[in-house]
Amino acid sequence: MPPAIAPSAIPPSPHAPSAAVAERQLSAPTLGTVVDEHLRWIGRWHRAAFFWREARLPAEALAMPTAFVQWVREAKEAELSHQPAIDRLVGLHEQLHRLARLLLMRAAEGDPPTLDSYAAVADKFEEFMAQCRRIERAFGAAGSSIDPLTGLRNRTGLYEELEREMNRFRRTGRPFCIALCDLDRFKSVNDTYGHDAGDRVLVATAGAVNRGIRNFDEAFRLGGEEILILLKDATLAEGARVLERLRADIAAQQVLIADGRSISVTASFGVAEADLTVHPEDLPSLADRALYEAKRTGRNRVVLAGPETEAPDGP
Ligand code: GH3
Ligand code: MG
Ligand code: MG
Repeated sequence: MPPAIAPSAIPPSPHAPSAAVAERQLSAPTLGTVVDEHLRWIGRWHRAAFFWREARLPAEALAMPTAFVQWVREAKEAELSHQPAIDRLVGLHEQLHRLARLLLMRAAEGDPPTLDSYAAVADKFEEFMAQCRRIERAFGAAGSSIDPLTGLRNRTGLYEELEREMNRFRRTGRPFCIALCDLDRFKSVNDTYGHDAGDRVLVATAGAVNRGIRNFDEAFRLGGEEILILLKDATLAEGARVLERLRADIAAQQVLIADGRSISVTASFGVAEADLTVHPEDLPSLADRALYEAKRTGRNRVVLAGPETEAPDGP
């Protein structure tokens, strides 16, 4: 379980949403709110539908829950990739409330629900709830693969991605490379300038990585100040060229910190080329040995995994 941190102890990140956006996100209903609201609504609806004489059809029994409409508006702005699922949910919501209202009107005219008409509403309710849960899971899965500080991918999906590249390598005979990039003496950035400055350096480094790799390459923040770069369809020599340029870009970058000063950092890289005899899950440790070598021999450099860094009794 992650340690409990008081919100005030978390330094603001330069990529944090603005206060207005953050407030909107806080006040925006979640699908959990929508589900809760519908559970309360169905209770009111049951009372009105079956005990309408006693309940006298209170107006609130006819009213549609409101959180859903607001949730849809927010979700449509934010979650472009889930549009069809949201549209289906909207359809189910309309059908549910149309049927439910129809039954109440009939009940008010002295025509109580039959088993079939009741079952139609109950089924639609169940379908709506199940779709809410499905979408909630899909959103959760999508959200959790992005590192919130840097916007890079986190390690979710990394091994699937490596497996996919390995299959492509087997098919085409063209290898790929993975690189581990680790900031040099990053602890001293935090110690000297503070954690917020450290965060800004991480964000700036992620930006340099994004600009420096090719469009179809991928970068994953493994944790801390370590980034794994997947250089697709690249030999060791081609990967080394991309990374050498990236190393120089990071070293040249000036990062503006909160007090107006600029700081710069360097990064070390270890690179390994895929090998048909090596399981893709073992590639990161080959790159890690090369990274260790880069640190040992002076930092701010790119080291390629070769026989000397692959030795089992290596450094
Ligand atoms: P080396 O050149 O050998 O890699 O030295 P280093 O100081 O970079 O390595 P070390 O592993 O000792 O320190 C990593 C530091 O990264 C320690 C930790 O506080 C810091 N760190 C990890 N995650 C974050 C983060 O999200 N934000 C900030 N600001 N610092 C972080
Ligand atoms: Mg480091
Ligand atoms: Mg490290």
